[in-house]
Parts: sequence; structure tokens; C-alpha cells
Amino acid sequence: MKIGRFKEEKSGIDNPGFFGIISKDGESVSKISEKDEIFKILEGFTPGVDFIYKISQLKILPPVLPSKIVAIGLNYKDHAVEMNKKLPEEPLIFLKPSSAVIGHLDYIEIPGISKRVDYESELAVVIGKRAKKVKRHEVSHYIIGYTCMNDVTARDLQTKDVQYSRAKGFDTFAPLGPFIETEVKDPGSLAIKGFLNGELKQKSSTSNLIFDISFLVEFISNVMTLLPGDIIATGTPSGIGPLNAGDKFEIEIENVGKLTNYVR
Ligand code: MG
Repeated sequence: MKIGRFKEEKSGIDNPGFFGIISKDGESVSKISEKDEIFKILEGFTPGVDFIYKISQLKILPPVLPSKIVAIGLNYKDHAVEMNKKLPEEPLIFLKPSSAVIGHLDYIEIPGISKRVDYESELAVVIGKRAKKVKRHEVSHYIIGYTCMNDVTARDLQTKDVQYSRAKGFDTFAPLGPFIETEVKDPGSLAIKGFLNGELKQKSSTSNLIFDISFLVEFISNVMTLLPGDIIATGTPSGIGPLNAGDKFEIEIENVGKLTNYVR
């Protein structure tokens, strides 16, 4: 099933929105009555729904509000080669702030302080259950689903700072969505593509990940406790490049969805 967060198109900016299940034809959304019920799907529970909207009546919000985004640097061999870096011996993890999150069709804003802001198409793992020191073979019990994330990066500041917090942490630098797909059978072999203004720029498969999803969840949950709604961004394949005002960037992941954002 596909789960998203929405609000009525004309409601105010303070409206917290609601979770909804998207119909098979993508036309309508069933509002989930209780806010946190979506995470009970992992226990086999079917959420109650109390209202059906046409999706055209709604604004699509980011599918979760994570307490943190844990991102992986250099997790595709082809990207390590293009960045002229050695393959990592263990995952290089960094955090992006929750304040950077925007949703499908929202605008990425180029900060004036950077001369080079890049797109990075990534498969995002959505955690559904408190995860601390999870064993690799148990990882699937903690993942509610998958979505797309653009790990937007001010490349010049990343080089200058060495630390990633500023380069990866600007507001709007974590487009997420459009929805959580809960029924991905094999997240280890999904086609992943990135399109700049309709032109294919990134093309790979999650089978090229250096550290796979089970390894990442075990590794990260031995460092920090992951909470429901937290995101693990699994790294970008090769083909990264700059974004400029007026651009449109789309990330398409097989069986997961297509995330579209604009740049200003
Ligand atoms: Mg990245």
C-alpha cells in the first residue's frame, strides 16, 4: 500500500495534516483516523479510515516528519569513482536536519552563499518501529516502507567545510516522497533514475550499493536509536550535477515512486 501525508489545499500553513492511504488508481486518499496508527501496520494492523478525498483536493506533504535523517556518503561504487574517493571500509554516516525536509512538488531553494548546489537521487528507508541494536536478519521488522529522497548538497561548502552539516543542512535540502511504499519485495534490486528537466542524468540499481539496507540498519542502530518516521538515505549513484533556479528534478525508483521538485 501507498501511504502519504496530506492537508486540504486551502487550509492554513499551521495545519498539521493527516496520514492517508492512496487508492490503487492514485485518484483518491482515505484519511487514517488515528495519527500514529500507520506504524502499527508493521504489527499486521489495518488502520481505520474515516473520510475519502479526491487527491486533487489535497496538498501532498512530506510522507513523514523524521526526528532525524541518517544519510550515507559514498555507497555506490560508481559514485565513489566519480568523486575520486577510495571505497569506504565501513559506512560513512552523517545527519541531515528534519528542518530540511520538503515534499513532492515543493521548491528547493538555492542559498546565496553557495555557487554549486547538486542533486543526489537516493532510495530512502522509512523506519516504522523504535530500533536499537537491531540484528541484520531482523531488519525487515523495523522498516515500514521506502520512498525517494534528494540529498541536495552545496558541493562547494562540503569541500570547504569537510564536515557536512552546513553543505547538506540548508532548509529545503531534503525533498522526500511522494509517498511511502510498504510493499517493496526486494529493495536490493530496484532501478533508480534521476532526471534534470526531463533528461536522464542518473541511472543505476540498488544492487550496486556497497553496504546493503540490512547492513546499514544494523550498523546505524548500533550507533543511535532510530525512531518511527526516521529516514535512512542510502546514498547516490554516479551522475550527480548542479541545480539552478528554474530547474525541475525528478527521482524515479522502481516500485517506489517518482518525486518531483522545482528549484528557485
Ligand atoms: Mg547523498
